[in-house]
Amino acid sequence: MKRIVIRMRHRAAAAAIIGLALAPSPVRADACKCRHLEAVGVALHNTIYLREAYRRKSNDLRPLDASSARTELDRFVQSLPEGMAPAPSPGPGLGPRRIPYMPVGDSIAPDQLSNFTDDQLCQASPASMQILGQALQAAPCDALGQSIVTHEQYHWAFCRRIGYRAYHAMHASEDAQEEVEAYAADIPILRDELVRLLRIANLRVVVTVRSNSAFPTNPLYSTIHLNNDGEVKANNVVPAGDLVKIEADGTQATTGSIEGSCEYEGMPITIPANAVLRRTDGA
Ligand SMILES: [Zn+2]
Repeated sequence: MKRIVIRMRHRAAAAAIIGLALAPSPVRADACKCRHLEAVGVALHNTIYLREAYRRKSNDLRPLDASSARTELDRFVQSLPEGMAPAPSPGPGLGPRRIPYMPVGDSIAPDQLSNFTDDQLCQASPASMQILGQALQAAPCDALGQSIVTHEQYHWAFCRRIGYRAYHAMHASEDAQEEVEAYAADIPILRDELVRLLRIANLRVVVTVRSNSAFPTNPLYSTIHLNNDGEVKANNVVPAGDLVKIEADGTQATTGSIEGSCEYEGMPITIPANAVLRRTDGA
């Protein structure tokens, strides 16, 4: 009796892949709008986080034997927060939590594999394609769906490129490295969409700082009150590597008073403010 071993893989559904890959515009959701700014930002953050997490995990797994590495990768995937594994998700609470990729080849007995082409063996199972469809349905807007499709297409293309047997035999550290590359393919889509949305968002940043410093033992003054109100308006939003750089100009006004034995002059003051906001940690 033949025993068919089905192994859950961490690759997202190479999915829809065939149908989606051939369609000129695979995702039909509406274009992202200002109200999707946060969702796109969160997706970019998650994608960068996952790329780096998988990169570290791939390195950790490399010295382990195949079985231990597989167990550890499974544990790692299970430990990822909702919306972060194993494919980009539309977000917490939106769509399926994860998309298990089971290539059709995983459900075919090893001695029957030679009856199929790599294209056939690398196709996602109907079940995983259905879950991918749910994820796309839940994607709030076009770019978020596009990033999911791009990720899946990477897995699908990779399986076809190296052939199903080599793909199936990969060490778990190679699986994790494949995820690094799949997430890396998503990042420009999400980053460029964030830039586009920020450009049309007419972004304005208001900074208000109130500070009171008391110096009870100081002979000249006892308390300093300072109010700092700044307002800058984004005038340029550009991609910067994986991230987004926002250049902004405006003014800041400082008013204050000093209590004590000193007289203070020069308040209030208004000076030009120039700010560059750069997401340095993906947060
Ligand atoms: Zn993946």
